[in-house]
Amino acid sequence: MPDDVQPSYRRILLKLSGEALMGEQEYGLEADTVHRVAAEVKAVHDMGIEVCIVVGGGNIFRGVSGAASGMDRASADYMGMLATVINALAMQSALEEIGIHTRVLSAIPMQTVCEPYIRRRAMRHMEKGRVVIFGAGTGNPSFTTDTAAALRAFEMNCDVIIKATKVNGVYSEDPVKNPGAKRYDRLTYREVLEKDLRVMDATAIAHARENNIPIVVFSVHDAGALVDVVQSKGNFTLIEDGG
Ligand code: UDP
Repeated sequence: MPDDVQPSYRRILLKLSGEALMGEQEYGLEADTVHRVAAEVKAVHDMGIEVCIVVGGGNIFRGVSGAASGMDRASADYMGMLATVINALAMQSALEEIGIHTRVLSAIPMQTVCEPYIRRRAMRHMEKGRVVIFGAGTGNPSFTTDTAAALRAFEMNCDVIIKATKVNGVYSEDPVKNPGAKRYDRLTYREVLEKDLRVMDATAIAHARENNIPIVVFSVHDAGALVDVVQSKGNFTLIEDGG
């Protein structure tokens, strides 16, 4: 590692929504995007940072959409969780192609596909330099993968949750719909909840606050942004306690 590179974190949890792996498509996985994100993960892993990833599934299936079309909500949520495992396997494949050792651990056991989630095992994998990819969210319907990210970050003693989005931080409104939306550099957990800023659901924010885990929001579309973020450089929004 060059002398001027100073990672701010020892162990990070990266939250990749399904959308972050979708690229310009309306649905599913875009191979180029998955490979690009994998290269970003490799770059931070090469800096000596331990990395675990929680993947979403919204690019394939969301429980609310299933419920909207008349399906039982819990079943639809299980379908959503299975979708996250598909994304986890795609990330695993892209990372292994570029020489990163990985393990996928699923909160819903499916032993022929990947390992079941066992906390101490996940820890051990990371200590050995493997990138751990958590699939199936929390394993429970009616939660989100953002909440899974907050939960796993706590369990893995991560220094930070880094949430990859389409925009370079948290805005007062959707900046795609309203170009005049205000961008925040820093926020407290309380402000996110009070202003109802839809960066992560309230359960995830509350859990991160409870355990004092900072959240960093950045754009996964900006090349090299993750390497910058782990050195506290570039564009991002930091959410933490007001002190
Ligand atoms: N899901 C769930 N429990 C969890 C995590 C996810 O039931 O702990 C389901 C839920 O239906 C959700 C879907 O999986 O809509 C996909 O996850 P999410 O919407 O969080 O993915 P993202 O928005 O990050 O792509």
